[in-house]
Amino acid sequence: MKNEAKENIEYKAQIRKVCPMCEREVTLRLTNQQTMELEEYQRYGGLIQDRMPSLDRFGREFIKTGYCPECQEMLFHTECEDSVSYIINGVVK
Ligand SMILES: [Zn+2]
Repeated sequence: MKNEAKENIEYKAQIRKVCPMCEREVTLRLTNQQTMELEEYQRYGGLIQDRMPSLDRFGREFIKTGYCPECQEMLFHTECEDSVSYIINGVVK
C-alpha cells in the first residue's frame, strides 16, 4: 500500500459505513474537491463515476456498497493506492 504521497492532505468530510464483508467500521475521508463532487452526486444523482472523477474506484465502490478497501482488494484483485484516506476501526491506514 502506498501512503507517503498524501500525508499532508487536508480532509473536508467523512463517510462512515460498516463493511458488509468484514463488518468493521470504516471511515472514508474526503478532500474538499471530493466533498463538492459528493454533494453534486447526492443532489443530482447520475453515475457516480461521472459525478466523482476525483475519487478513485475504491472510494466510489465504498460509497455505493460500503466494502472497505481491503475487502475490495480481495474481491477485485487490485491494489488500493489511496488507503491513507481510510480509517478502519479507528485506525488510520
Ligand atoms: Zn471489509
